[in-house]
Amino acid sequence: MQLVRPYPCLMAARDPRGAAARGLQGITPTNSNTRISASRLHATGNAPVVTTGATNNLGLNSERLREAMIKRLREQGITDERILVAMQVVPRHLFVDEALASRAYDDAALPIGHGQTISQPWVVARMIASVCEQQVPKRVLEVGTGCGYQAAVMAQIFPQVYSVERIRALYDMAKDRLRTLKLTKVRLAHSDGSDGWAAAAPFDAIIVAAAGIKIPHALLLQLSEGGVLIAPEGGVSQRLVRIERTGVESFQRHELEEVRFVPLRAGVQS
Ligand code: SAH
Repeated sequence: MQLVRPYPCLMAARDPRGAAARGLQGITPTNSNTRISASRLHATGNAPVVTTGATNNLGLNSERLREAMIKRLREQGITDERILVAMQVVPRHLFVDEALASRAYDDAALPIGHGQTISQPWVVARMIASVCEQQVPKRVLEVGTGCGYQAAVMAQIFPQVYSVERIRALYDMAKDRLRTLKLTKVRLAHSDGSDGWAAAAPFDAIIVAAAGIKIPHALLLQLSEGGVLIAPEGGVSQRLVRIERTGVESFQRHELEEVRFVPLRAGVQS
């Protein structure tokens, strides 16, 4: 455990042509937003758990595929029943392109277009579990909505969910999907999440789904006292970092598993 002061500078994380971008070479939509483990380092791909054939059939099989995913998450150390129940309920295959739907429940991240990914199921569960360690937060911000899957899972657990996405097309897609699933309580914004969501702050928890060289200071300042942020941090090598706000200017930092995420980028893309 380390006691840290807020980060003084955000520029490295916000410059896509700088060290962050150079350090993130080799990260692609198929290998990012995942945990790095010995088996993953040698993995060439993930076979579907069950051959489902046409996507139309997936509706029938998806419950069984989700059960297999939950069993695997338990084996991978996820024990929080609230999260397991939430992930059993949310139809992950509806958040990816139809052509990839049969792989939606694999132990993998998948491309969602625009060079981005839906996070690996373990990553989604681990990040949510990490902010629920002491108590279930009420007001939660996600940075990096992507396809909206993690926001949908969060909406099963947290009373108030806010999520921001910088790519307009993904923001629109997530909005549609969440509306279709009647998850209208999730508040979405098309903006640069490095700035957080000042008008809705403070948050009891902030979950960041893209990696910056440094965790944006503005996000730490939008945590309530006792609030928790979890984010991937780094360039070539990244780790999940959990930071708890223990006072106005005091933060406790823990480094967790090694991961690989898509980069946190500056500005918005319309
Ligand atoms: N939450 C997703 C994972 C999305 S991938 C899930 O449900 O699986 C990470 C997302 O972060 C991408 O869509 C990317 O566009 C977005 N992103 C990157 N930098 C951002 C920023 N500064 N503000 C908001 N979103 C950002």
